[in-house]
Amino acid sequence: MPEGHTIHRLAARHAELFAGDKLHAASPQGRFAEGAARLSGTVLESTEAYGKHLLHHYAGELTLHVHLGLYGKFSDGPGEPPEPVGQVRLRLASDRHWLDLRGPTACDLLTPPEVAALRDRLGPDPLRADADADAERAYTRISRSPTPLAALLLDQSVVAGTGLIFVTEALFRAGLPPRMPGRALSRAGWDALWADLVGLMRLAVAHGRIDTVRDVHLPEAMGRPARVDRHGGEVYVYRRPGAPCHVCGTEVSRGELAGRNLYWCRTCQPG
Ligand SMILES: [Zn+2]
Repeated sequence: MPEGHTIHRLAARHAELFAGDKLHAASPQGRFAEGAARLSGTVLESTEAYGKHLLHHYAGELTLHVHLGLYGKFSDGPGEPPEPVGQVRLRLASDRHWLDLRGPTACDLLTPPEVAALRDRLGPDPLRADADADAERAYTRISRSPTPLAALLLDQSVVAGTGLIFVTEALFRAGLPPRMPGRALSRAGWDALWADLVGLMRLAVAHGRIDTVRDVHLPEAMGRPARVDRHGGEVYVYRRPGAPCHVCGTEVSRGELAGRNLYWCRTCQPG
């Protein structure tokens, strides 16, 4: 599933392509026909991402809400849109450009109170400028919980936008074991973890991929081959089970937590 940086990049791209334009909207597949009819002919005013949720704000207090989930995908191109291929849930088009959405988990229209309710049920998003004040709220939840830290950080109502790669890697960089109970995390530990997530996620927005290793652990610095993975990016432990830790050489461990894979180094993240 795409992590928050991908959604923030999409929000920026859609604003660049369409903000200020009156858009033609359609649902070639038909499943969003009613919503598309309401959107069609209105002006896209702004876009934003909140965690893994993408919002398009249109004139007339109409908000399009998209959650890509596991299979959702956008594609776009210049000029006239091509014949729709596959299950196109939503097609948006201006005079200059078109955008198709396929396979999302959610594609619906929200009223302003519904937008507020969506934000209220999400934790702070490290990529939002307005999130630092709310980071306090996340620590309050974490510091009272016996739940493993990795599970808390993956819970979108605690922190929004973080997925398995950011969580796994931020815990490694902090030297914290993924199964440590939330309530064992110190205030200073949380402040450092939050700041690191903000930094890693901003870098991912800038590069369009997740890189988490420090300069001294880059392939060139260590004289090791670069990582080959469809998710791209240099990482410490994510999807590297059995491979040597870049810091200490210990084989990276793999485990499971609530049906998700966990990766960690038992030497660098003791406990
Ligand atoms: Zn290690």
